Amino acid sequence: MKTLIYNTLLVTMNADNEIIENGALIIENKILSYVGPVQWLPTDSFDRTINAERLIAIPGLINAHCHSPANLVRGLFASRPLEIWRAYYRASLRDMTEEDFYASALLGGMEMLKSGATTVLDHFFGNQTCRFMGAGAAIQAMRDLGLRHVVSLTLSDRKYEETIPLGETSPDLRSEVERMSQSETRETRAWLDDCEAFIAEFHDPEKLTTCCPGPSAVQRCSDELLRGAAEISKKGNLPIHIHLAESKSQKVMGEKLYGESLLGHLESLGVLGPNVSLAHGIWIDRQDIARIADSGATLVHNPASNLRLGSGLAPVTQLLALGGHVALGTDGAASNDGQNMFDAIRLAALIHNPGTVDFRQWVTPAQALKMGTGAGARAFGLACGTLAPGQLADFVLLRRDTAAFTPLNDVTNQLVLCENGSSVDTVIVSGEIVVEGGRIARMDEQEILHLANRARERLNPSIRRELAAAQSMEAALAEMYFQVVGKGDG
Ligand SMILES: [Zn+2]
Repeated sequence: MKTLIYNTLLVTMNADNEIIENGALIIENKILSYVGPVQWLPTDSFDRTINAERLIAIPGLINAHCHSPANLVRGLFASRPLEIWRAYYRASLRDMTEEDFYASALLGGMEMLKSGATTVLDHFFGNQTCRFMGAGAAIQAMRDLGLRHVVSLTLSDRKYEETIPLGETSPDLRSEVERMSQSETRETRAWLDDCEAFIAEFHDPEKLTTCCPGPSAVQRCSDELLRGAAEISKKGNLPIHIHLAESKSQKVMGEKLYGESLLGHLESLGVLGPNVSLAHGIWIDRQDIARIADSGATLVHNPASNLRLGSGLAPVTQLLALGGHVALGTDGAASNDGQNMFDAIRLAALIHNPGTVDFRQWVTPAQALKMGTGAGARAFGLACGTLAPGQLADFVLLRRDTAAFTPLNDVTNQLVLCENGSSVDTVIVSGEIVVEGGRIARMDEQEILHLANRARERLNPSIRRELAAAQSMEAALAEMYFQVVGKGDG
């Protein structure tokens, strides 16, 4: 199968950020075989030709951090600091079944595809009553949609109550935290065996699936688990994904547990390297920033979630100034609450300006767009994220007859500062059209909405009950939070 797309405005995102006015793309067996001006097109015959004169072609966006089970609880929770918010979010997962995980992943996957994402990293945590916590159902959903996915299985063998600064708290809170943590934690070897079995069963790039270990966070794993996860990644030449220093409490606990920073500890275990992607990385110091840059690891910035939970601002400009790699994520819909990568790109381009005095270091639109494309591809070892011959045919065609691109002054600036995903017309993943005319091509959108609504309804009694239990913890968790951050001056 050979497809020609011609007369398009190409935003290649290659090393020179080349933009080609009257460009063409040839897709040959899932791969881009030509990317360049129409006048240099090789003479050839094609099975399919698409005249794209009203369209702009960009590499598919890469959502480098989210949690698909959260899609059913979008907009449900009040904004709270991470440790409080987490009690609510985890409560909502307790009784989800494989069917629910499938519906939730379909809902988020549909939203991502329709807003121009072609790859997602799902840092999957469901619940322990399901095989691989339900990750297989999420994989099935993304395969059904035609969305490329990296699924990192969340691993944690340290009890949650040992990883937050609970201090001298009430016995009631402690027992409630313990009850919740019991459903998350398992013995080290069991996790590692499960992770290997998961990869053996589901890892299949031909079916759009990359599987890898996703240790929950440094402080939530024993050294043995972190080393074991790194070994699994090394053996399979796979990425490894982990949360890092999302809140001040985590930073404080890191220093208490290790006598050094969380990242310093990860480095001393020999785990840090170019295949490592670190979600958030907010509460890190200058030495940590240099460690990320030197190791070739990627920081995955989740601006909307960080604002929603008041977690802080990741030192993105400082890391970029050192030549470090920064990718972008939406984070789960429980803390964002959408899965729209154009939203993440726009926020990343804007929110660091007030905190960065030297305006010459402000994030440029081209940098923000690269964070949302090539940086994620590099982090996960995928041959996509730029439009270039030999790359996977994962790209997006946006209508240019929309307000966002009218008048067309600077396509890169407008992609970042004006577009919100609503101009997306066609999305191609692995050479196949998965969004056409702005609609999902392989499934019925109404059916996806119906499945999501039905799952949410079925979960209603459980969510009500568990959220009430979480609420009973809020006052004590708030006290813990204020002990760590101080009361502030307001
Ligand atoms: Zn996360």
